[in-house]
Amino acid sequence: MKFINTDKMKNININQGSFSIDNLNNPEQDKKLKIITLSGTESVTKNMTIYEYGDDIIAVDCGIGYPDSEMLGVDVVIPDMTYLVENAHRFKGLFITHGHEDHIGAIPYLLKQVNVPIYGNKLVQGFIGERLKEKRFSGIGENISFHLLTSEGEEVTVGSFTVSGFRVNHSVPSSMGLAIKTPVGMVLHMADYKIDWTPVLDKPIDLAKIAEFGEKGVLCLLSDCLGATTDGYSKSETSLSSTFHELFEQASDRQIMVTTISSNISRIYQITDAALKMERKVALSGRSIDQSVRVARGLGYLPFPDDAFITDEDAMRYLQKDLVYIIAGCYGQQGSALDRVARGEHSNIVLEQDSLVVFSADPNPPGVEEDVERLMDQLTLRGAEVIYSKIQENLHVSGHGPKGDLTTIASIVRPKYFIPIGGTVTKARAYRDLVSKLGFDKNSVFELLEGESVEFSDGHAKRGERLTLKQILIDGSSVAGIGPMVIKDREQLSTDGVFVVVVPMRGGVILRDKIEVITRGFIYVRESKELMNRSKDVIGRIIDKMNGNQINQDNGGKKNRKKDKQKKDQGSDLVEINAVNGDITTDVVFKHDWGAVKGKIEKDVGRFLYKETGRNPMVIVHGMDV
Ligand SMILES: [Zn+2]
Repeated sequence: MKFINTDKMKNININQGSFSIDNLNNPEQDKKLKIITLSGTESVTKNMTIYEYGDDIIAVDCGIGYPDSEMLGVDVVIPDMTYLVENAHRFKGLFITHGHEDHIGAIPYLLKQVNVPIYGNKLVQGFIGERLKEKRFSGIGENISFHLLTSEGEEVTVGSFTVSGFRVNHSVPSSMGLAIKTPVGMVLHMADYKIDWTPVLDKPIDLAKIAEFGEKGVLCLLSDCLGATTDGYSKSETSLSSTFHELFEQASDRQIMVTTISSNISRIYQITDAALKMERKVALSGRSIDQSVRVARGLGYLPFPDDAFITDEDAMRYLQKDLVYIIAGCYGQQGSALDRVARGEHSNIVLEQDSLVVFSADPNPPGVEEDVERLMDQLTLRGAEVIYSKIQENLHVSGHGPKGDLTTIASIVRPKYFIPIGGTVTKARAYRDLVSKLGFDKNSVFELLEGESVEFSDGHAKRGERLTLKQILIDGSSVAGIGPMVIKDREQLSTDGVFVVVVPMRGGVILRDKIEVITRGFIYVRESKELMNRSKDVIGRIIDKMNGNQINQDNGGKKNRKKDKQKKDQGSDLVEINAVNGDITTDVVFKHDWGAVKGKIEKDVGRFLYKETGRNPMVIVHGMDV
């Protein structure tokens, strides 16, 4: 993989027909600016916004979301990027506000389909580079065209858009707001932000620059709205330092683990700082944590001595009281390092009785609450003392500004229109109510669902068309999404188990009496022999019925033969009934429509089992040549 033009801001101009004042007077003036909230307005995560003007498209952020407990076996959810793929020839650039997974995590899936230039800061570049090194993404983004965009650097012109970054505060360093100059006016894109006058690794938000934009006139402000239901102003991230120090002090001589999201470099800084003050080393556990720390250290964000950090493997040689683990898995992800510790399956870490486990994530995204709860339960049952933000108020400082921060920004920018982003439907409504209290017209706030759009022309805005979107679920190493049918199957398997019917055949002849049924996760077979036998009868009857006859002791062979002869003449699938020793055997041949027999068995056996047990296992019919 090679990055192109990383430090050469001057080479960035890749536009054909860049924006200029002249554009306002040429025939293109009737063109509209369209903003599509592709994703991120309903579920907080998987943020992605599209800007479109004439033939030019740019996008801001490209993040993953987290599956809810119903999406079995799904690792991540990504935005439906079909529109960008279909319009790849017009898609000129992807701009990244900050390095959180829900803003950059879906980039490999985008690059697989479109090789678009990416603009972002060094930390973003580092995180993306690490991710693309993973085996599952091999070959993707080998020729990634990454361009540096910083809050202190020059503006970048891409097609009709001229973009510059400005400083905001958040829980990952170097987060930016974007000022997007368009032919119809200035748009400020402020994804996750808060106002922090004493940030841990950053300078404070650049309110002067934001005010300057406000002075010149802003057409639309896209603003974080996650904190729109929380009163007050942001607490500084710095206020956490003493919290960790106090917690670690209380847990002297005990094993300590802290879990947080891997890209929260400021948090990792504070945990490390507190650990070193207590003369403990920091043991990093989990691939994502490892990667983030490596990238951040390479860029000078974690200025601690080299020997401050060790691997969890090295940690086995230390006394536990001399360590603080920073461990992945704060959203309860199955298979994460902390999940394996909780199950007693981690090869390098053994959870000690009386261990202190601290959850220090930002507020959980919707859908993961149950998994977090389950993980905390497991840790507690194994003797750990689990501390999380609900029982200890000051355990996390949100990276998202509450009401006070949001109204400050709205008042300084004074845009003509608003689009709340990065929240949920409820948060967007709360944001609308909040700014309307400042005197802005409620109708100037567009609460958009995913795929909805706003069109701007002549200084006015109205709702545009909505894109039809699919849910794209990603499972394991697969880069292709999996469909809703797969999820439905998994759900059925997990709740009601599976019932397999094996139908032996020889030379196309069904050996009716040798049918086997096998079940897992449905009923306890030993106690349900009778049900199993009766289900075999049901299957036998289905096969007989599809013959057009009841082939059993009650029916005469001649009658059968006669009927079957008729059927054969009528071109039925049934071609033969074997007569052996004068008796009718139950072996039957279906000329070609095994699919119909299979379907019928699946349906009828399913119905029978539901009637008998009230449960709905997945019925799988397997024809087997013997
Ligand atoms: Zn964020």
